[in-house]
Amino acid sequence: MSELWSKEDEQAILDMIERWVEQDVRPIAQEYDQADKYPHQLVEQMKDLGLFGATIGQDYGGMGLPATIYAKIVLKVASAWMAPSGIFNSHLIQASAIERAGTEEQKSRFLPRMASGELRGGIALTEPNAGTDLQAIRGTAVRDGEDYILNGTKTWITNSLNGNSLAVLMKTDAKAVPAHKGTSMFIVETKDADGNFKPGIKVSKLKKLGYRSIDTCEVVFEDFRVPAANLIGEVEGKGFIQALGGLELGRINVAARGAGIAKGALDLAVRYAQERETFGKAICNHQAIQLKLGEMAVQVEAARLLIEQAAAKFDAGERCDMEAGMAKYAGSEAGVFCANEAMRIFGGYSYSVEYDIERYYRDAMLMCIGEGTNEMQRIIIAKQLIERYKI
Ligand SMILES: Cc1cc2nc3c(=O)[nH]c(=O)nc-3n(C[C@H](O)[C@H](O)[C@H](O)COP(=O)(O)OP(=O)(O)OC[C@H]3O[C@@H](n4cnc5c(N)ncnc54)[C@H](O)[C@@H]3O)c2cc1C
Repeated sequence: MSELWSKEDEQAILDMIERWVEQDVRPIAQEYDQADKYPHQLVEQMKDLGLFGATIGQDYGGMGLPATIYAKIVLKVASAWMAPSGIFNSHLIQASAIERAGTEEQKSRFLPRMASGELRGGIALTEPNAGTDLQAIRGTAVRDGEDYILNGTKTWITNSLNGNSLAVLMKTDAKAVPAHKGTSMFIVETKDADGNFKPGIKVSKLKKLGYRSIDTCEVVFEDFRVPAANLIGEVEGKGFIQALGGLELGRINVAARGAGIAKGALDLAVRYAQERETFGKAICNHQAIQLKLGEMAVQVEAARLLIEQAAAKFDAGERCDMEAGMAKYAGSEAGVFCANEAMRIFGGYSYSVEYDIERYYRDAMLMCIGEGTNEMQRIIIAKQLIERYKI
């Protein structure tokens, strides 16, 4: 539940984030990305800024930010470096699943620790054979006394190496019809008090095109025991709904990351176009470059407005799957478009790792894939349209 925030409060938070981004995030981005080095110091700063509790309710130690403000924060961070936004974004998707669907005992047990950053993590849905089609997952959770025993392989799991907590989707009834009614979500604390992985879990980092520095891993569960008290909502069969229920906020969040990449690429491109000269004038004076900058600026603003609209509906407690889908589609495609156009504006220097723009180009595509691919977004939008036009 979001709390009431005045315009002054909002501006104070955004100013604080802007200072942090410019002083601590942007300056290290290219070096850390190139070395694929985890930014531990940013994690400590995120704790101090309260980002791990950004959308968690104040009753549980979080800031209880509305989606409208949260999206602006995400956009700001991603405009400098998209990757670190994943450290708190994926974490908050897990927290929001617990806050929406957990029991009161689970909320009190986990959310304050998540808000402080003591527990950090993400959500483990995808398997090697099942991403979009989550009903096809094969990982199992079998009840054994006071525990469930987890077996299966999750892949592409963000924050699973450096974090210590995951919401894991497993099959509790392989015969259920429809299949999604046989899925359940578990809160899994993956590490012991010394920070070592518990027995029965193996995590291996994947090498990626972009979104570097942030751990995305394969996670294998082999007879891993999780207390039955960690079954979210304490009722089996609700996992799929719980996973999808977080996607409206998740899509607004990915939209903001995409729009952030778009805005960041536009800023870099405008500055470069003002400095670089050909044929005796700055390239920003060539119409071919102006056409690109104009189109990029329109895409950034269109995405920003769609995000604002979806977030406002979300905050008002209204259904917004269509609006969040539109924002996600527009934001992520704006990211790809603007990064691509900025690459052209940078000419040969776009290919140099000395310039940040190549990182935006590598990072942008991910936003078209996560939180429901953009193919699926358009299908969801169309289905909603058809429903709303029904007579
Ligand atoms: C860097 C990175 C980080 C990630 N982090 C996480 C994470 O933290 N947790 C997690 O659980 N997952 C994570 N993922 C996984 C991501 O959510 C999936 O990759 C995504 O859901 C797509 O699934 P897939 O890769 O299996 O593609 P598939 O589902 O195999 O889709 C392949 C293609 O088919 C299309 N398609 C599929 N079904 C349909 C349909 N019905 N109609 C039309 N087109 C269709 C898709 O749009 C896509 O173009 C991450 C992925 C990456 C790359």
